[in-house]
Amino acid sequence: MVVVMSAGAAPEQVDAVVARVEGAGGSAFVSRGVQRTIVGLVGDIAQFQALNLRAMPGVGEVVRVSKPYKLVSRENHPQATTVSVGGVPIGPDTFTLIAGPCAVETPEQTLAAARMAQGAGATLLRGGAYKPRTSPYAFQGLGERGLRILAEVREETGLPIVTEVVDAADVPLVAQWADMLQVGTRNMQNFALLQAVGAAGKPVMLKRGMTATYDEWLMAAEYIAQRGNLDIVLCERGVRSFEPAIRNMLDVSAIPMMQAMSHLPIIIDPSHAAGRRELVVPLARAGIAAGADGVMVDVHPHPETALVDGAQALFGAHLDELAAVVATMPALVGRTSAAHLSS
Ligand code: PEP
Ligand code: MN
Repeated sequence: MVVVMSAGAAPEQVDAVVARVEGAGGSAFVSRGVQRTIVGLVGDIAQFQALNLRAMPGVGEVVRVSKPYKLVSRENHPQATTVSVGGVPIGPDTFTLIAGPCAVETPEQTLAAARMAQGAGATLLRGGAYKPRTSPYAFQGLGERGLRILAEVREETGLPIVTEVVDAADVPLVAQWADMLQVGTRNMQNFALLQAVGAAGKPVMLKRGMTATYDEWLMAAEYIAQRGNLDIVLCERGVRSFEPAIRNMLDVSAIPMMQAMSHLPIIIDPSHAAGRRELVVPLARAGIAAGADGVMVDVHPHPETALVDGAQALFGAHLDELAAVVATMPALVGRTSAAHLSS
C-alpha cells in the first residue's frame, strides 16, 4: 500500500502518517521526489485500511499497488519523473548526453576526456574512481584520489559528475564528491549497496544487471526508493547473450518497456553494450530513436593506452559522428538537449 501526499504537504503531515502507521505495528518508508512525497507501507493491509489514512491532512490518495515494486511503478505515478543531476535534467522532455572516460587515470587524461565530452554535447561527466573489475589483477581505480580529480575537472569544466560506488561502506565518501552515484551491472542486486545509496541523498544511476529481468531491475530500484530516494535513473547497458562478437546485447525493448512499467527515466550505455567503438554510434541512434532519455558513452584522449575499456572509447571521427547524432536526432523524437537548468 502507498500513501501519496498531496503536492505541498508539510513535513509534519508526512510525520503524522508515519506515526499512525508505526503505531499500528507497520513500517513506513518515506520517499521524497521532486514532484511529491510517497510513503510506502509494509505490514498488514487490512489493519492499514482501518486507519483511515485518506482522511489525514496532507494526504492526496491511498493506493493499493498490486506490483511488488510500489514506489517506482508507473501504476501509482502516471507522470514520468525528471531527475536533476547537479542542475542537469534527465527526463521525458529532454535528451541528456553523459560522456567521459571509463576510469579516471590521471588529472590530464580526465580533463582531456571531459573537454572531448563537452565538445560532443555532453552536459554530465562520467568517470570511474572505483572500478568493479572481473579480474582482481586488473586496475581497480584510483579511489578517493580519483574522486578529487573528478571534482577538479568539474570545477574546470562545470560538468556535474556521475561516478560509480562499489561498496556500501564507500557511499558517504563518494556521495561527498559525486553529483550522481552509479551502481554497476555487477552490483545491481547488492542489496546493502542499494539501501546505502538510497539513504545518501544523491541521485542514483542504476545499471541493469547483465542477466536481470525487468522485474528484478525494478525491484532493485525499489530498494533505493524505499530508503527515501526517488531520484533514480535506469541504465540499459546490454545483457549477456550467446553471441561472442559483441560484449553484451543492447536490449532496445527495455526503453519502452521501462517507460511503461515505471515512471523513472531510462538511458542507454552503448559503450558497455558494444565493447567496440564502431558499434557505439549505431547503438546510440537506436536508443534515441526508441525514446531513451539519455545516452552515456566512454571517451578517451588516448584509447590505445587506456587502463580500462580502450576498445570501446570514442575519439576522433567516431566522436564527431556521435556529436552530430546528438545535435540532430533528439529533436526528431520531440526532445530538446538537456543543458544545465541555470545556463
Ligand atoms: C561503467 O560504466 O564503468 C561500468 C563498469 O559499466 P557496467 O557496470 O555496465 O559494466
Ligand atoms: Mn568500462
